[in-house]
Amino acid sequence: MDVAHTVSYLIFMTDQIYDVAIVGAGPTGAALALGLAQADLQVVVIDTRDPQAAPKPDGRNFAIVTGSWRMLRKLGITPALEETSQPLRGLEAVDGGTHYFGRPSVLFMQDDLDSADPDEPLGQMVMAEPLQAALDQAISEDSRIDRIAPDFFEAQTAEPGFVSITLKSGRTIKARLLVGSDGMNSPVRQSLGITTEGRDYDKSVFTANVSLSRPHDGIARQLFTPEGPFATLPLQGDRANLAWYMQRGAAETLAAMPKKDAEAELNARFAEFAGEMTIEGKAGSYPLILQLATEMTGPRAALVGDAARRVNPLAGQGLNQGFRDVAALIEIAEETLHLGGEIGSPQMLEAYSQARRFDGTGTALTLDAIDRLFSNDATLTKPIRTLGLMAASKIPPLRRFLARKASATEDGVAGPMSDW
Ligand SMILES: Cc1cc2nc3c(=O)[nH]c(=O)nc-3n(C[C@H](O)[C@H](O)[C@H](O)COP(=O)(O)OP(=O)(O)OC[C@H]3O[C@@H](n4cnc5c(N)ncnc54)[C@H](O)[C@@H]3O)c2cc1C
Repeated sequence: MDVAHTVSYLIFMTDQIYDVAIVGAGPTGAALALGLAQADLQVVVIDTRDPQAAPKPDGRNFAIVTGSWRMLRKLGITPALEETSQPLRGLEAVDGGTHYFGRPSVLFMQDDLDSADPDEPLGQMVMAEPLQAALDQAISEDSRIDRIAPDFFEAQTAEPGFVSITLKSGRTIKARLLVGSDGMNSPVRQSLGITTEGRDYDKSVFTANVSLSRPHDGIARQLFTPEGPFATLPLQGDRANLAWYMQRGAAETLAAMPKKDAEAELNARFAEFAGEMTIEGKAGSYPLILQLATEMTGPRAALVGDAARRVNPLAGQGLNQGFRDVAALIEIAEETLHLGGEIGSPQMLEAYSQARRFDGTGTALTLDAIDRLFSNDATLTKPIRTLGLMAASKIPPLRRFLARKASATEDGVAGPMSDW
């Protein structure tokens, strides 16, 4: 390239206005980048992680519901995950105290889905690391996506027709739309002046992967105890990912204990429910927080995933809600292009806000209500939840409704998910 070409290339680079700049290449930001590139938009992704480094070890396993799995399939990610993921064949919830036998329970299985494919499971248990690695790989192979990493988003200013984004490295990026998929502390949200509401549950969840002495048959099982739920989520082999909700401090203490002592605690409380458990690898703990952004959008900007809401991980809905944001934004961007509209316009942002605000907030508050209803032994709430569980297990249409809800395959609310 001669000097004149180099100069004009640099001018082009500085003046380039991307359609969408995505801050945060976690699971939601990376999936969004792939979907928008498939819709022929020019996308740039900015992330603090070094793309050459493997994703950090992460004990989390996500219950990816069928709707989200279908979206990942459309993005071309599922072949890389099939080897390590476990199909979810059923969900069981038991209203128990220290003793669970004979307690009312609800169980729905994959046939309650009424899927056209009778083998389609309710969802998949996916490990955090292979999911992130598969998304990173797909981004690096997609020539339509530019990636700036490692770098940090610092500030943004909405100008007429575009938004100007300043990075820690000193670079400035221009885009028609800025998306904050930068997690629960979201610097993008803060820079937009969007506040949050919510509460700290003063609880934490203890998590660990275990091998089980009994087969799980692909069934995710949740036991509601007065302190909070205990769940076993099936992994490949006779293994499971545990989530045990406790008062803040207790989960952290248990996670820091020598493995044998933590195992003894687990088996003393839950071996009857889950079988004997042997901890594999490192246990962990996460604080439980409900945090809702008061707005999903700002001038030429939108929030997705944990930047928009952090929900109680009780029903494994956090990332699934984030994927619903992603599916909605992709579909609205496609529709905007189809109708000759402008990416990042107030009309596009209003459509996104309308599509996602109610569903996301509604789910967060429902999970909050479930947490309050089940995490106690009060005489008033106990009969209500017992009746609820009995009704859910005995009334097939209700069971089918819950199965469709849980797997995000129902029509309506997040309509985009059914197409995406
Ligand atoms: C114990 C536990 C279990 C869970 N289980 C489930 C489950 O079963 N199913 C489910 O659906 N959900 C589950 N969740 C929720 C799920 O983990 C989150 O909803 C999900 O990880 C959010 O993804 P995200 O892409 O929005 O944000 P994140 O994963 O937080 O990604 C944010 C990205 O932004 C980048 N970033 C941050 N700041 C900047 C900056 N200034 N500049 C550039 N980049 C930046 C970060 O590097 C990161 O890559 C669970 C959560 C917990 C705690």
